[in-house]
Amino acid sequence: MKLADKVALITGAGSGIGRGSALLFAREGARIAAADIDEQSAAQTVDLIESQGGRAMAIRADVSSPDDAQAMVEAAARRFGTIDILYNNAAIEGPICFAAQISVAQFDHVIGVNLRGTWLGMKYALPIMMANRSGAILNVSSLAGLRATPGGAVYCASKFGVIALTQAVAIEYGKYNIRANCIVPGWIETPMVHRLFGATLPPSSATAPPLRRIGQPQDVARAALFLASEDANYITGTVFPVDGGINAGDRGP
Ligand code: NAP
Repeated sequence: MKLADKVALITGAGSGIGRGSALLFAREGARIAAADIDEQSAAQTVDLIESQGGRAMAIRADVSSPDDAQAMVEAAARRFGTIDILYNNAAIEGPICFAAQISVAQFDHVIGVNLRGTWLGMKYALPIMMANRSGAILNVSSLAGLRATPGGAVYCASKFGVIALTQAVAIEYGKYNIRANCIVPGWIETPMVHRLFGATLPPSSATAPPLRRIGQPQDVARAALFLASEDANYITGTVFPVDGGINAGDRGP
């Protein structure tokens, strides 16, 4: 097992990529603190983990709230003794409109959840990892964090920022044997993508990836497992696409 005896705190663990990763990490031996703004969905993830023989706890937390983020980290560390892996996955897609149409409240909400939430998780987990002189941080960006898309200004800004934060932490905390890497999902079939596209998922459109299928949460979970595990113990500060090849360039005919 690749994560035997590790403790992983995963945000947004009640849905999509977060739930898929929580289930895989648990099968690989990790104890999971499954955090989500929706306590019921986090509890369902815990039930699924326990039904496959794993150990997990559910935490209700709005990652954009400093109090919630601190309490989330403390609850996980209290229950399981430490935090070895912090997986900042929770995010919202925000409004789909041009920049001038975004309201101040929408802007602050998206930046609050996606960017400040990612930073807050690290702010409170890093001291634990520094004391351990060991830790693995995974932050989730997006292809929208590499290249702007029309209608996605604030989501793009938040996801570009996640990459910057990840790399800053990687260079600041490497001396404590703490690694920080950024996962860049392409189109992954989750409730978020269904909210954005309805039934018309991206493979049926011009945005179909070179591998000609939409990704599944498991595809991201397996990459995250690698980056969180000892197999990646000399890898930090990277931006790691899991996108079926979209970022490589325009696909062939
Ligand atoms: P998802 O299915 O919507 O899951 C996100 C989870 O985060 C949901 O359970 C959501 O709860 C929770 N959440 C939302 N706001 C939160 C908050 N303030 N505090 C704590 N939890 C919160 O989305 P997903 O597709 O799995 O996305 C996971 C990550 O991948 C995100 O960072 C997303 O930006 C990134 N990503 C996804 C894709 C894709 O194609 N799916 C592509 C690129 C990047 P509610 O459902 O109750 O809101």
